[in-house]
Amino acid sequence: MTTELTHYIGGEHVKGTSGRFADVFNPATGEVQARAPLASKAELDHAVEVAAAAQPAWAATNPQRRARVMMAMVGLLNRDMDKLAEALSREHGKTLPDAKGDVQRGLEVVEYCIGAPEMLKGDYTDGAGPGIDMYSMRQALGVTAGITPFNFPAMIPMWMFAPAIACGNAFILKPSERDPSVPLMLAELMEEAGLPKGILQVVNGDKDCVDAIIDNDTIQSIGFVGSTPIAEYIYGRGCANGKRVQCFGGAKNHMIIMPDADIAQAADALVGAGYGAAGERCMAISVAVPVGEETADKLIAELVPRIEKLRVGPYTGGDEVDYGPVVTSAAKENILGLVQSGIDQGAELVVDGRDFNMQGYEDGFFVGPHLFDRVTPDMDIYTKEIFGPVLSTVRAGSYEEALKLAMDHEYGNGTAIFTRDGDAARDFANRINIGMVGINVPIPVPLAYHTFGGWKKSVFGDLNQHGPDAFKFYTRTKTVTSRWPSGIKEGGEFNFKPMD
Ligand code: NAD
Repeated sequence: MTTELTHYIGGEHVKGTSGRFADVFNPATGEVQARAPLASKAELDHAVEVAAAAQPAWAATNPQRRARVMMAMVGLLNRDMDKLAEALSREHGKTLPDAKGDVQRGLEVVEYCIGAPEMLKGDYTDGAGPGIDMYSMRQALGVTAGITPFNFPAMIPMWMFAPAIACGNAFILKPSERDPSVPLMLAELMEEAGLPKGILQVVNGDKDCVDAIIDNDTIQSIGFVGSTPIAEYIYGRGCANGKRVQCFGGAKNHMIIMPDADIAQAADALVGAGYGAAGERCMAISVAVPVGEETADKLIAELVPRIEKLRVGPYTGGDEVDYGPVVTSAAKENILGLVQSGIDQGAELVVDGRDFNMQGYEDGFFVGPHLFDRVTPDMDIYTKEIFGPVLSTVRAGSYEEALKLAMDHEYGNGTAIFTRDGDAARDFANRINIGMVGINVPIPVPLAYHTFGGWKKSVFGDLNQHGPDAFKFYTRTKTVTSRWPSGIKEGGEFNFKPMD
């Protein structure tokens, strides 16, 4: 049976009224299991009005009470971890441990936001001049909004709404129309944790809803995570409309393998980072860059048996499954199209997953693992983000050549170097023009109290996600200079004079 999903507005599940819907698939079976309503401008504008009415009282609630909602939310996320992970895997396709990781990495940002009173304290200068004091405070923006991708339907919404709400804002979440159930569950949980109605709302939709968010005058800020062309579009139009905007885009993450690296360890890391979650991670490694022919030959020899042993299957397969299907049949076709382009353009397909067939799940969106060798920078499989279980190997003649390759790519989200040489690692970390760097760590996702963000075409805007940057993004600084000329005369008599 196909479930009709809702929006979540003013603390109620609200049916869509636009008459437009998006199919939500079970990627393992290929079946449509739900329909997500696609909001019209009128529906989005209504949600914003509800948020605007609720927000002033929330901003006036003291920060410690707001933080207690976050504390309660951490407990509820732990209580409902299994339920959330199951709903997430059913719509996304990732394995249950991966789905739990998705919830957990969001939970950690909620946990960080318990420290909101500390982060929002502001600064004070006593005696900046005669009778003059100066202080700055961080005030909420008002109604804020976030537009999130399909690949982390729990983590990325929480990365946005937890700091926004802890700062005293209302937040409108427009999740991916491919897997909207977990975001709806999160909004319910926040209310159970004590959040007043109207402060966190979920409005499902597509481009129409996104455009309505960008053009709504009440919305003060937009956070976006997704592909680069959409990031660039939302950033440009959002900024032109005078909003504060941060957009995080696509990636092509390189891992450099130096000749002195432990090649077996590097191969283990590459298999997890390249094929985990079917490669549908913005921090997945999609390019391996062994330095020197001998390193490359050894690496390929270590990789091939590991990749051939990967177990692909539905999330219900438990520990027997390494990665699941990709999210839609369109995503599958796009990946296989790029694999074909790699073959046509002369790359060597060392592991060929094209014939992969998942017995009993023939209509699911499964893609077998692929490994390319001798990829060159002009090929589409190198320039484009594939977002699937496809790893490309580009052989570099030297460390400098490997470094230049990663630096010349238009994306700059994450990267890694595998080496035993501290000097090389240090040089790499200092010179590379990429936002998140791993040294013998393949997926260097920063923890909640640091900030997350790439460079180059992987980001549009100045501040990163979570960590201290989030408290800057979701507040405005106001600086007050006050002068109270002393009215206390010698001997203690009080004689207040108006200021001259
Ligand atoms: P996407 O760009 O297709 O969609 C992201 C969001 O934008 C969704 O909510 C979607 O409804 C909306 N959208 C789609 N088309 C739109 C349009 N034409 N106009 C306005 N809005 C539109 O991305 P996706 O496929 O959901 O997610 C995968 C992408 O996200 C990959 O490129 C991946 O690298 C990227 N990503 C980046 C990060 C990061 O932090 N840099 C994190 C996760 C994912």
